[in-house]
Amino acid sequence: MTQQRHTGGDVRLTGVSKTYGSFTAVQPLDLTVPEGSFFALLGASGCGKTTTLRMIAGLEEATTGTIHLGDKDITGLPPHRRPVNTVFQSYALFPHLDIAENIAFGLRRRGIRSVKKQVDAMLDLVELGDLARRRPHQLSGGQQQRVAVARALINHPRVLLLDEPLGALDLKLRRQMQLELKRIQTEVGITFVHVTHDQEEAMTMADTVAVMNGGRVEQLGAPADLYENPRTTFVANFLGTSNLIEGDVLAAAGVDVVVSAGGGELTLPRARCPDSTTSGGRILLGIRPEKIALTPAADAHAIAAGRNRVTGRVVDSSFIGVCTQYVVESPAGAALQVYEQNVERRTGLVPGAEVVLHWNPDHAFGLDADQDIA
Ligand code: ATP
Repeated sequence: MTQQRHTGGDVRLTGVSKTYGSFTAVQPLDLTVPEGSFFALLGASGCGKTTTLRMIAGLEEATTGTIHLGDKDITGLPPHRRPVNTVFQSYALFPHLDIAENIAFGLRRRGIRSVKKQVDAMLDLVELGDLARRRPHQLSGGQQQRVAVARALINHPRVLLLDEPLGALDLKLRRQMQLELKRIQTEVGITFVHVTHDQEEAMTMADTVAVMNGGRVEQLGAPADLYENPRTTFVANFLGTSNLIEGDVLAAAGVDVVVSAGGGELTLPRARCPDSTTSGGRILLGIRPEKIALTPAADAHAIAAGRNRVTGRVVDSSFIGVCTQYVVESPAGAALQVYEQNVERRTGLVPGAEVVLHWNPDHAFGLDADQDIA
């Protein structure tokens, strides 16, 4: 790959906001996108992620704040003077040009005549060398999307912005293209900022994910960190399924927090609870469905010591291939979710079965019980 590695430094948003009349689409935002990273803006429809992307592109003017690329303040620059290119969901390829000419377009527009070497390199990068002479309508959706990426990358942007670029593809193709885009990003080494509402997509592709909600970044981190240590109920619920068990804090001074919930005592690490956790307060104890094991109540004596336990009754079970999903009614929660991996043996519990749910206390996280549950 001939593309020059790097680039222009971090993308830094300082106090960037956007209002339309009296409506605030993006609240004042401080955000750093590290140079060379694959960064995802993730959130539900209307949370402000596209507006944020468009402000980086220069397609929307920020109402307040500054945007830097490395040391350079690009806040006032028009889109074509920013070293940034955008790939949209609608690929917007030129129907009358073949693939090679579509990719060459940016160079031709700048008056560059000898484009073959660069176009060939781009065709190699997106693995479309055999299709160079086809027209866009002769390509699949995924292939067209790759042409759109190549057409943007040939301009050597320092940052590539991707606005729901896989939104029009069916699920299987989406999954393939996620890996493909990740490979391309690793190969070219420039910063990618990717907007999506699909949490699995963000987690598959990005080094860093900013979870947006109501025009704000609610939490930012590596995918595994966000999943394992969500700080708000919104993030806990947006990234996968969470069981949230509300309880009273009995003790919070040691390395573990002790919680009274569902008629029993549960513990979780102090380090995974909000700083504000104090004895006498309320807390939401979060535990992911795949971290919970199920044992028939009659076999409860075999459960290892030191695990959190909650009694309950199976109200639903669904075999979905990779795992069996149980819904359990318990004093700790009306509909606790449990995913049991179908590895070598399944418990095969049926609705009505009396069970004990148990988990390693280190796998639980604590959330502020006074937040709004999204
Ligand atoms: P989606 O995934 O649906 O595109 P999003 O998270 O990208 O959603 P934005 O497109 O950034 O959201 O929009 C954020 C909010 O700003 C929305 O409520 C939207 O209706 C509003 N908005 C966006 N553009 C304008 C505009 N030009 N005028 C008025 N309101 C706007």
